[in-house]
Order: sequence, then C-alpha cells, then structure tokens
Amino acid sequence: MIAYMPTIYPDELGYSWFCRYYVHSGCFSHKMALQELYCKKSDYLNKEFIGNLNSGAMEKIEKIYPMDELVLDHTMYPQYARFIPLEQKKDALYRLGHEPCDVHHLFCVLPRNKGEQCLKFCPMCAREDRERYGEAYWHRKHQIRNVSICTKHKCRLKESTVPAKSEQSFTFCPAESYIGNEEAVVESDPLVIQFASYLDSVFDAPMDFENDVPISAILYDGMSRTKYLKPSGRSRYTKMLADDMGEFYRSMGICSIASIYQIQKALLGKLSDFTVICQIAFYLGMEIEELINPSLTVEQIQKEQESHYMRDVAPVDWELLDMETAPVLEKFAKGVYDGTGNENGRPERVSEKLVYREMGLLGHQLENMPRCKTIMERYAESYPESWARKIIWAYRKLEEEGKPFYWTDIRKISGVKKKNLQVVIPYLMKHADVETVDRIVKLLNVC
Ligand SMILES: [Zn+2]
Repeated sequence: MIAYMPTIYPDELGYSWFCRYYVHSGCFSHKMALQELYCKKSDYLNKEFIGNLNSGAMEKIEKIYPMDELVLDHTMYPQYARFIPLEQKKDALYRLGHEPCDVHHLFCVLPRNKGEQCLKFCPMCAREDRERYGEAYWHRKHQIRNVSICTKHKCRLKESTVPAKSEQSFTFCPAESYIGNEEAVVESDPLVIQFASYLDSVFDAPMDFENDVPISAILYDGMSRTKYLKPSGRSRYTKMLADDMGEFYRSMGICSIASIYQIQKALLGKLSDFTVICQIAFYLGMEIEELINPSLTVEQIQKEQESHYMRDVAPVDWELLDMETAPVLEKFAKGVYDGTGNENGRPERVSEKLVYREMGLLGHQLENMPRCKTIMERYAESYPESWARKIIWAYRKLEEEGKPFYWTDIRKISGVKKKNLQVVIPYLMKHADVETVDRIVKLLNVC
C-alpha cells in the first residue's frame, strides 16, 4: 500500500513522479515499488503515460490529483491526442486514466528515430530544479518529439541514457541519478528556436473538448494561402510541398522529417500525428492560434471534405516513396515479427493490415512499391506458424524465469488457444531445436 506520494512538480512527467516515489518511499526494490502501483507487468510499460494503476494506488493518487488532470498535465497526452477527432480525444483521456489500454490503439505513435530514443533533459533546468527542489526531474516538454532545445533557456536538450520508448523490462530511472552536471550549449539558429517555441506553444495550449474541426480542414485553409494549392482550390501540389519541407527541415537538422506519404495522409485527414501536422503548419506559416483555436465556417470545412476527391497534381513518386519506406518498414516488420518492437515483447504476425495502419500507408500503396513488397513477402507466414513462434517464445521466457510452469502458463502469455494446437506442432520444428520441441510437446500432453 502506498504510504506517501511526493509532491508532483510543474510539467513533471508522471513516470518521473513514480521514479521519485520509488526513491523516497523506502521501497528497497523495483519490484516492490511496482507492486504498490500496479497489478501486472503489462500495466506499466509506457513511460510517456501513467500505465494501468491498481485500485489502491489509483485511490491514493486521485486524492492528490484527479486522474484527468494527471493525464492532461503530466503525460504526453497533449502531444499524441492534440489533433485527433473529438470523440476519440475524449475516449483516450478517459481510458488513459481509468482503463488498461495499449496507447497504440488510442492514437498514432510513430517509431522513434536516432536522436529521440532516450529521455531528454535541459542542463540548465536540471540545475535550477536542484536549487529549488533539491532534485532534478524529467520534464514533459523536453520530451516533445522533434523539439531539440529548452524553450525557457534556449539551450540544446541532451539525451540521457534512459530509453524513452516502452521496454520489456521496466525500471525506475529517477532523473536525479541519470542527469549529471552538464554544460549547456546555447542554440544560435533563430529558426530552430522559433520552431521549438511553436511546438511548445501548441503542446501547452488548453485542449479543446468542445469543437470538432478536422485538422485536414485547418491545413487546407492554411494551404489555400500558398502556392501549394491551386487558386481554384481543386488541385494540391503535395510533392512540391513535401520536397520543399524536406529541404527546409533538413537544414534545421530535426530528427524526424515528415515524409511525403505522411504529409499526404495528413492532408487527407487520415493522419493526425503531432509532429507531422506541426511541421506542415509551421512551414506554411500558419499562426499557432489557427491550429489550436480554429475559426473555420461550416462552408470552409465542407469545401475541404470535397477536396478529398480531387486530383493530386503531382502523382506520388513511387520509386522515391518505396526507397523512403523500405528501411522503416524493415525495422517495423522485424520488431513486430520477433517481438522487440511490441509492448509485451511477444512475436506477432506481420499482417498487411497492421503495416498499412502503423506505417500510415494509403490503400493498395504497397502494390506499387517492389522493395516494400519483397520485405512483406519475407515476413509472410500462416497463422499456425505465427502461433508456433509465440509458443516457443513463451516457453523460453518461462524457462528463463526458472520457476516451474505448466501448459496454462504458456497459453496465457502466448495467447494461443488449445484448439489450435494440432496445426501448430509441425511448425514448432521449424523454429526450435528437437529438444525444445520435445519438452513443449510433453507439457502439452500433461494438460
Ligand atoms: Zn531549460
């Protein structure tokens, strides 16, 4: 039972708060602290959110902080949910605070590139926090994707060694132990500062839970004042926009530059990722107010809806798209296949449906991309084969834990139903050695 929660600091990441709880509570192991906060392993995998707290912890925390406020003010919710449709936004807010959920099902979480793999910090903020509070903590605003400076101090953020993405082995890494006394490097590029301030302000703005203006309509309006939309409003020049944006952001050295297919999807209202939208809006010269507090008329929204059917003047450059997508797809598919990219670490089948959704591809695009198609073919497998791999994975995992286990344990973590076992057996041989298969089959026969 939680005895005491420390005071949460301004803009502190919920994860950081729990880390400090671990330090201050006198829990002598991670396991003990985790047990006080959560029920099971899958409850706490994501550092950008608060995870699925157990009822005791929830009760205690709600007395200090209402769940909705905790999600709004101390998680990355304002980033990921900023531009999603209204109902989805409300639903995500509720579920993040009250229900077990996989954030990937609530909104789009793009894969992380080099430079954004770990939690970031500002050396000057850390110094100030130590003076004021006696310890450093992880700030939320330093974790906004593609923001490379602290907007308060105009100095470059540093990457810590604490992975930002969800991991299989969750550990409390309190900022105080992971942030040294580092020198601050002041950012001199005014454009980098301007871009960071832009994202920072959009992130910080109150979330709108009243109006449901599609982000595609807002961007369409912004585009209508530029050369990227024909004055008639009937043709957009997506390729030109993507090329120009690419050049602009490359010169700024940001981590994840929006690709043509992400831009195209955002313009068609099929992608609402924070960093992609902000890149488009900032590049088009849109005011922050236009994004967070749009004043479009019903006619304007209607006009944009109709534009979805219009011709895209520059057809997609398939060769380029294929080349751009293939390495990302390879990484994504591998992570899904061997489980390293999945929140619970379980291998999964790489299905086309999943790839289209997670990679932000539009219908049938893969058919025009030979490199990507080859990758898909390489990972293609039948359901029984994927079940076999899940069983082997579960078996090895349990064996590693070193405790006695039974078929029911394998079933629970592999998620493979008993009625499917007969079709699985032939595939076990393909993915494990004879001894392992023998032992698995033995377990099966006992049950
Ligand atoms: Zn700072």
